[in-house]
Amino acid sequence: MILYKTALPLQQNLAFQKQNGKIIGFIPTMGALHNGHLSLIEKSKLQCDITMCSIFVNPTQFNDKTDFEKYPVTIEKDIQLLEKSGADILFYPVLEEIYPHGLQTYEQYALGNLENILEGYYRPGHFKGVCQVVHRLLNIIMPDKIFMGQKDFQQCMVIKKLIEQFNIKTKLEIEPTLRETDGLAMSSRNQRLNEDARKKSTAIFKALSFVKENITTTNFTSLTQQAADYILSNGFTKVDYVAICNADNLETVNTYNKDLPLVVLAAAFINNVRLIDNLIIQ
Ligand code: AMP
Repeated sequence: MILYKTALPLQQNLAFQKQNGKIIGFIPTMGALHNGHLSLIEKSKLQCDITMCSIFVNPTQFNDKTDFEKYPVTIEKDIQLLEKSGADILFYPVLEEIYPHGLQTYEQYALGNLENILEGYYRPGHFKGVCQVVHRLLNIIMPDKIFMGQKDFQQCMVIKKLIEQFNIKTKLEIEPTLRETDGLAMSSRNQRLNEDARKKSTAIFKALSFVKENITTTNFTSLTQQAADYILSNGFTKVDYVAICNADNLETVNTYNKDLPLVVLAAAFINNVRLIDNLIIQ
């Protein structure tokens, strides 16, 4: 695996690969890699000739300074995992490579209501920061495909909009959420959970599964309330939301309709760590 810390030599290599007709697959990450990330690498290796990953803890997408400061950094281990997974290239840039003109942006990202609901509501400015970093990375790399996890459902929708807005020639591939055996969605933030919180953290997945199982028989307000209560009575200190939404646009849905694509999403705090998860219902 070749490691690049600056964009220019990376771009030269990629230009050479593209001239030779190679298909480039790209997986952006913030590091502290786990099997969820590695599943994206695997998918890319199946579909592309060159698989490249980036590791960059992007300051502009953290609305909470403490969350940014406490974000796990395990670069040595990450490099070993990437070598083992067969990734071809790692881009591990310094801040100035991504933000040569400073952290502010003058670009308007047309995210519509996605910016104001769910994660957008509870993490103001988060998706603008996500767009800044992914837009810059896509401009540098210009991959054929970008692989992202369904775990960050709303983020996938945001990137879809970004690609459409700027007419970027990269195809978005959304891959299923990898889970621990007890159901907890793999996440870099799980490393920050103490032993007790780690055990209790499965409550989110159980609550989402409960919603999915009872979607046709129970009123949605009651379902989401019961799910939130379950999460709170199992060690979580705060629930930002449990929401049943249209899986195409994340608009809230209030009653069951077998023809609507549905997703249930949740965000909650345990042990001062904010976890998110979702399940596609139909
Ligand atoms: P992150 O490092 O958290 O920014 O995540 C980098 C990419 O990995 C994003 O596209 C995430 O959606 C994806 N990802 C994170 N956790 C998982 C998981 N458990 N299963 C599949 N993909 C994941």
